[in-house]
Formats: sequence, C-alpha cells, structure tokens
Amino acid sequence: MLAAMSRRLVALIAHDKKKLDLALFVREHAALLRRFPLIATATTGELLREKAGVEVERVRSGPEGGDMQVGARIATEEVLAVLFFRDPLTAQPHEPDVSALMRICDVHRVPLATNLATAEAIASWLEEQVAPAP
Ligand code: PGA
Repeated sequence: MLAAMSRRLVALIAHDKKKLDLALFVREHAALLRRFPLIATATTGELLREKAGVEVERVRSGPEGGDMQVGARIATEEVLAVLFFRDPLTAQPHEPDVSALMRICDVHRVPLATNLATAEAIASWLEEQVAPAP
C-alpha cells in the first residue's frame, strides 16, 4: 500500500454547461483557493486560468481520463476537497468515470461539492483549514 500523502489539493472539474459557474465561483473565492495547490481537468483548468486567474495543475480532459487521474490522486490521499460542477441534465460519454470519481471520494471521505450550494459550504470549511480556530 502507498504511504499516505498529505491532503492539500483542491480538485476543480466542471462539465461544459457548468464551466462558467465554476469560473465565477473560483474568481469570487480566488484569494482562498490560491492558498491550496489546485488540480483540474484540462478544459476546466484552462478556463479557470483565463477567467479566474488561478494557476492549476492540469490533467487530461474528463472524457479522456482526467476524472480518473483526479480519482487516483484521491486514492493516494493527496486531495483535500473536490468541487465538481456536474451537469445533471446532459448525458456524459464518460459517466462511468464520473461515478467512479464520486465513489472514490466516498471511500476516502473527501468532501465533494457537485453544485454551487455545496461548493459554498466547502469554501467555508476550507477557510477553517487555512485559519484554524485558536
Ligand atoms: P474538462 O473535463 O474540464 O476537460 O472539460 C471535465 C469533465 O467533463 O469531466
């Protein structure tokens, strides 16, 4: 078994119709999110660089295996939280990968936000992680 690594990464993924919502969310919370190493699927990451001005490690695009790459980082205990803005109204060719990503979050008890409301809740929690109560 791999040695547990420190959970510091915040993973950012959005399906196409939700990418703008995630970019606006990240821009609004940029000061907080810049305090964590960020990882994103390829297209999401590129958009976040452009629209939200954050630096991210980009893995493959979701349909090309990017969700699974993020899942692997969760399995090696590198990920602190996942913000995954899913599109619940559009079928995704890589739906099995999407399900696997959510499952591995549950296996490793990684907080997972799949919409704006839960992302706001996780942002509040992330604030506590960088500034623990005295
Ligand atoms: P993308 O992948 O950021 O490369 O579009 C996201 C996804 O569809 O899972």
